[in-house]
Amino acid sequence: MRRNSDASGTSAATSAKSASRPRSVTAAAAVVIFCLALVGCGGNTAGGGGDERPVVLTTFTVLADVAKNVAGDKLRVESITKAGAEIHGYEPTPGDIRKASQADLILDNGLNLEAWFAQFVEGLDVPHAVVSEGVEAMPISEDAYQGKPNPHAWMSPLNVQVYVDNMVKAFSELDPGNAKAFEANGKAYKAKLQAVQDEMTAKLAAVPKNQRALVTCEGAFSYLARDAGLQEVYIWAVNAEQQATPQQITEAIGFVRKNKVPAVFCESTVSDAPMRQVVEATGAKFGGVLYVDSLSEADGPVPTYLDLIRHDSKLITAALNGGQP
Ligand SMILES: [Zn+2]
Repeated sequence: MRRNSDASGTSAATSAKSASRPRSVTAAAAVVIFCLALVGCGGNTAGGGGDERPVVLTTFTVLADVAKNVAGDKLRVESITKAGAEIHGYEPTPGDIRKASQADLILDNGLNLEAWFAQFVEGLDVPHAVVSEGVEAMPISEDAYQGKPNPHAWMSPLNVQVYVDNMVKAFSELDPGNAKAFEANGKAYKAKLQAVQDEMTAKLAAVPKNQRALVTCEGAFSYLARDAGLQEVYIWAVNAEQQATPQQITEAIGFVRKNKVPAVFCESTVSDAPMRQVVEATGAKFGGVLYVDSLSEADGPVPTYLDLIRHDSKLITAALNGGQP
C-alpha cells in the first residue's frame, strides 16, 4: 500500500491507516466533537446510515465491482467515478475530494490510467494501493504514448487475478480481523475469472482466420486481443482531449478496406462519431458498443466485470462472424 509520500515508487508496505489506525484519544475525541458540530462529517459513517464498516474507494466502476467481490460484506466499497464516466481525464469534484478524505483506503489502477489521481490524493491522509502492481504491462505501440504501458490491463481476466491478490493484501492490512474472509473471497473470485477467461478465448476462437481483427475507437483492447489471438487496430491510443485526427481516421479506413474487416466497434465512454465515419467510408458494419473503461448502470448490459468480458466477447464474435450483434 502506498502513502502519498511514496506515491512515486516503492511498494513500501505500510502501516495502512486503517479502521484501527493509531490515533491519539485526544485527537479522536476532538474529531468526534468536531463531527457533532458538523453534520455529514465523520469517516466511514458519512452517508452510510450508521454503517461502521471501513470505506474503500476505487477510481472507477470496474475496480469497485472486483473489490466488492473480494470484500464481501466486510467493507463498504464505492467508486469515485460513476458508470459511463470518462476515466482517463476525469476531473474530480469537491464532493469527490471530501468523500476521499473520509475513506479508509483508495484503490487506483495505476499504469497511468488515471491522469488525475496523483493530484487527487496529494494532501489526502488516506492510504492507497495500486491494484495493477505485479501485472506484466503491454507497451503502447503508437501515437504520443508509444512505449508507455497500456493501462487497460483488466481486459485480461488473468491480470485481474493479480488485482485480486493486491486487494486481498490491502484489505487484510486495513482490516486484519477479516483477512481470512478476504482470502477466501479472493480465491473464489479468481476461479470465476479463470472461467470467464476460458469462456472468452473459446468463444473468440470461433472467428474465422481472415476476420480476426478487432477495430475499436480507443486502443483499450490490447490485452484481450492478445489473449484471444486477434489483431488490434484502433483510431486513437488512449482517450484524451484531442481525439481522432483526420490522419488517424484515414489510417483506420485504409486498414478496414485493405483487410475487408466486416465490423468495427466503439466503446461506451466515448463518442462513436469517428468510427461512424469509418463505417460510412468502408461499408463495414458497426458491430456495437463495447465496454472497457466503465461498467453500465445496474440495469444495463454489463453491471459487473464478468458481464463486461462476456458481453464484449459475445458482441465481437457475433459481429466478426457476420451475425447480428
Ligand atoms: Zn481507456
